[in-house]
Amino acid sequence: MSLKERIKLVHRLNYSKEEVIKHTANKAVAEMVEHMDKEAISNTFDRFAQQHPQCGYGLTGACCAFCSYGPCRVTEKTLYSVCGKDVDLIVAGNALRRLASGMAAHGAHAREVFIALKAAAEGSAPIPIKCPEKGVAVARALGIETEGKTIEAICGEIADIFIDDLQRSLPKRHETLHALAPKERAELWERLGIIPISAYHECFEVNNLTSHGTDSDFESHMQAFLRTVLAYAITTVTSTSLATDIVYGLPRRSKLNVNLGSIVPDGCVNIGINGHAPMVAFAICDIVGTPKIMEKVKRAGADTIRLYGMCCTGGEFIERDLNIPLVAMASSAEMAVATGAFDAIVVDQQDVLPGMMHVARQFHTRVITTSPSGRKEGAIVLELDYYLKNLDKIYELAEEILDIAIDNYRNRESKKVHVPNIRAKVELGFSVEEVMKLFNGSMPDKKIHGLAALLKAGKIRGIVNFGSCGNVRGAVFERNQIIIAKQLIKNDVLVTAHGCSGMGLLFAGLAHPDASVLCGTGLREVVQAKDIPPVLHVGACTDSTRASQIMAYTANAAAQPNPAMPFAMVAADPAAEKTMGARYAFVLNGIETYSCVQDNTLASDRFIDYVSNRLRTIVGAAMNWNPDPYRTSEDILCMLDEKRAALGWPVRDYTIGTKEEIEDKIPDTVEIGRSICTII
Ligand code: SF4
Repeated sequence: MSLKERIKLVHRLNYSKEEVIKHTANKAVAEMVEHMDKEAISNTFDRFAQQHPQCGYGLTGACCAFCSYGPCRVTEKTLYSVCGKDVDLIVAGNALRRLASGMAAHGAHAREVFIALKAAAEGSAPIPIKCPEKGVAVARALGIETEGKTIEAICGEIADIFIDDLQRSLPKRHETLHALAPKERAELWERLGIIPISAYHECFEVNNLTSHGTDSDFESHMQAFLRTVLAYAITTVTSTSLATDIVYGLPRRSKLNVNLGSIVPDGCVNIGINGHAPMVAFAICDIVGTPKIMEKVKRAGADTIRLYGMCCTGGEFIERDLNIPLVAMASSAEMAVATGAFDAIVVDQQDVLPGMMHVARQFHTRVITTSPSGRKEGAIVLELDYYLKNLDKIYELAEEILDIAIDNYRNRESKKVHVPNIRAKVELGFSVEEVMKLFNGSMPDKKIHGLAALLKAGKIRGIVNFGSCGNVRGAVFERNQIIIAKQLIKNDVLVTAHGCSGMGLLFAGLAHPDASVLCGTGLREVVQAKDIPPVLHVGACTDSTRASQIMAYTANAAAQPNPAMPFAMVAADPAAEKTMGARYAFVLNGIETYSCVQDNTLASDRFIDYVSNRLRTIVGAAMNWNPDPYRTSEDILCMLDEKRAALGWPVRDYTIGTKEEIEDKIPDTVEIGRSICTII
């Protein structure tokens, strides 16, 4: 296929706002997009339409603007850029820089969590260690002697290892990787020569290697790609998830309503918390219900005050049983602001779209930024100092933020408030520890015997994890992942979910035990017996760690390596730079990964062949793309059955549900206009 034809193909895969309203599974978002239309408030979907047709060279990765010889475009007629790169090198270089940028974003999140862990250990900030047991378990996994030491001393040593693996510039044994990765994987990565020096160094090296006139070897670019994926996966994801559990507590089983219909429209000071960094967000959470704050709330004329989660901070809150509803993923946060019901939106870093400010300006809503990395023009700045000078004043900062929201409540115009009466019931809190309890796991052996037995017997066909973003390009917003998840549970596949993609599954009502009616007979029997949902929510973006551990420990119990097991990862509509590393982390772990939206890499056959075929021989798994979610579901089921057959495990026919069954019927777990929201 020529480059022009590829560009045309990608252009054809876009959907209008009207199609989104009609076909998205998230009816609350659809209602808000229509409402915003009526009120002439533009949003992501309008801005996307204004970009049509998007630049075909950018869409397929055939454009480079790294240096000021450029921008250069490589076409069938113009084979080389000014400096002499061919299309393969340009695509690989673009992908590498995107990967490094995503790692820097997760790395900044990681750094903040490690600082919190270190500060909690040293007592330099009033941050409590909420799960000392996890601290001891992680220390033991890292080979830290725990006997006779205080939990603070233990956590200090953990923080030192995590920080060193994040930041060093000289080669040294990667302690976290060797302690936490499956042995078979670590040995393979060692043989391939892709063990990273540190996350900071790999980020530095990607920018060096792709800089003007430095590396011009495709294979060497891809070697750096794999090394950077590992730095991303181990240091900025796994360590972050573990450190967050230690400081902020393990997930706990809980029930909640989610989506925009969880917003209390009257009598309640409403505060949205959006972003990723935990320190200020959790400090606000710790003090929001205290008598001192409640007194201020009453004085302002409100009955109560409530926090609402958006994006991954929302994911961190909901998994920890804090009674904070999740109302939006990154791309739909603008719709939450457009309800007019928020007195403040508190944001830190990553996935807080600049467009949110345009929407907030139409209402009384104050936007407050808490991270020097994530300021917004026109927002109030109440942040942690760049040099951490006010770390010890974190609760004072949290109170100041709450004061602004409480004070702003009186400015809310009730005639401008529009809250869709749509929400979903969910049950949450599936930590690895909880899954171990449910399925006869043994933590010391890192084995989940129950899941391995159910897989072998064929009650469960496979385990598939959903993660990553929601995209407005190449997909109907919040449609693909829901179709795929419904097809999979219908065919007895147990689903784990996290991050923004996981939020889509929550909003679709799939993370509730009542969704068992949508399952095949084998999976239904399992989830009904355990009274759990067929979609187990395992947390926020960095909690892909939990999904990886559940898969690895199940593989251990089956005495098989990851690539032999009927596992998959779905990142249906990836958008943020971070999702590049998130998907390839699963691939490097030997798990086939599926997306409906293509990265901007289609211009290079060599790149596509490398990631879609060659990786399978190198690491045992590869990337798969298909824009059609029905075909993607079938591809996944087919692959799971091939793995099962190779293991000698029973294989049953799968059935693909029709559009009517999968898309048109809304499960009872989604409540539309049935009740007035109450605080639970
Ligand atoms: S680095 Fe090479 S391909 Fe990129 S803009 Fe400069 S000259 Fe063009």
